[in-house]
Amino acid sequence: MAYAIEGTTGPWEVVVGLEVHAQVISQSKLFSGSSAAFGAEPNTQVSFVDAGFPGMLPVINRECVTQAVRTGLGLNAVIHKVSRFDRKNYFYADMPQGYQISQYQHPVVGTGVIEVELSDGSVKPIGVTRLHLEQDAGKSLHDQHPTKTFIDLNRSGVALMEIVSEPDIRSPEEAGAYLRKLRSILRYLGTCDGNMEEGSMRADVNVSVRKAGEEYRTRCEVKNVNSIRFVMQAVEAEAARQVEVWESGGVVKQETRLFDSNRGITRPMRSKEDAHDYRYFPDPDLLPLVLEDDWIAALKASLPELPDAKQARFRSEYGLTPYDAAVLVAEKATADFYETVAKGRDAKIAANWVTGDFFAALNRAGTTIETSPVSAANLGALLDLMADNTINGRIAKDVFEAMVETGKDPGTIVEEKGLKQVTDTGAIDAAVDAIIAANPDKVAEYRSGKDKLFGFFVGQTMKAMAGKGNPALINETLKRRLG
Ligand code: MN
Repeated sequence: MAYAIEGTTGPWEVVVGLEVHAQVISQSKLFSGSSAAFGAEPNTQVSFVDAGFPGMLPVINRECVTQAVRTGLGLNAVIHKVSRFDRKNYFYADMPQGYQISQYQHPVVGTGVIEVELSDGSVKPIGVTRLHLEQDAGKSLHDQHPTKTFIDLNRSGVALMEIVSEPDIRSPEEAGAYLRKLRSILRYLGTCDGNMEEGSMRADVNVSVRKAGEEYRTRCEVKNVNSIRFVMQAVEAEAARQVEVWESGGVVKQETRLFDSNRGITRPMRSKEDAHDYRYFPDPDLLPLVLEDDWIAALKASLPELPDAKQARFRSEYGLTPYDAAVLVAEKATADFYETVAKGRDAKIAANWVTGDFFAALNRAGTTIETSPVSAANLGALLDLMADNTINGRIAKDVFEAMVETGKDPGTIVEEKGLKQVTDTGAIDAAVDAIIAANPDKVAEYRSGKDKLFGFFVGQTMKAMAGKGNPALINETLKRRLG
């Protein structure tokens, strides 16, 4: 059953389109040589161009164009060989030029598609309308002085990719899946770090509702939502609000709204401008951007393996389930980690350890794969110790915990703690004999047909051997002695 909002007049379909602003990874800004690095002292990375001084000329940064085209190729999108920069005119205190250089009618990237995996196992294509390059504005600092606002222009002129989706999204879940997939692709490409907390990726959420089969109704835009969870909540809250407006006989007005994450509601910010309010016109300081076929082809040939292709390969090469493959490829660091562990080993056991004990340990420690105390090489070595019967599966869990705590390699831990599996048949015989001698009642019951007791004997023997006995040998010995 498709997602719907149940109103008093029946179900309403939710229609969502997303505009994502993704900060381009580049050394310098879109039209100046100032550093684009995050976190510097205010106003230390500002050229005359970024400060909007009269007469300064913007010069396009080749690297930013390269990143935008690589992103377009990664989104299976059309690359426009000729695109153009326009001035989008409006006033804001942190935008000293009085206009933003953007791309209006002729963006560098045209239509593309992002495939998203949904929880019911289905895959849905979401259309990408366009990707264009534009400048970011500076930042107003309202918390530095009781009555004054300060301006930091470090961010002024930093390159953004605005990635616009078609209104193909039909639920909060699909909105979340789209953003996660987009972020994953950007990170694989190395074109945006996708860090929503630092604002390097933020979403404007366009929401409308309609009855099945209707034309689209008026939409509202929820501006600058800075986490995937908040986007999903904003879709739900805004759609519910609109259903209430329509059902109470009102009319939804086109406007820009803000999501209040504390109260879980959207509230009005300003009435929506139309494109003509911005008086777009081609920037006379910039020539049209013309790309050559060979250059585009070379970029395409140099793209890394992207999440969809990697997922397909993990399924065929390692025999993984679609779910495990999707989990392992979501972040490139995880995929690389897994492949190091799996190489030359049992790929399914490797997948179980990475998605199971390893992820759980990272969560518990509140850390990430990059700073994990357990390296891929060490986890692989642990699997080797099990495969060659140096330790059994039970002891492996303890060794793993010690690896998490100490960062040591598993071989050292097994040596230091004396955890080697006991395969000496003499020691196993002795332990089994002792258990049988200590439990005459249970032995009698077992011999009279209570087969389930076998597990009890295995457990007791293993316990007597401090968990280090070889399980196969213990089973074999018990069968022989009890039989
Ligand atoms: Mn924009």
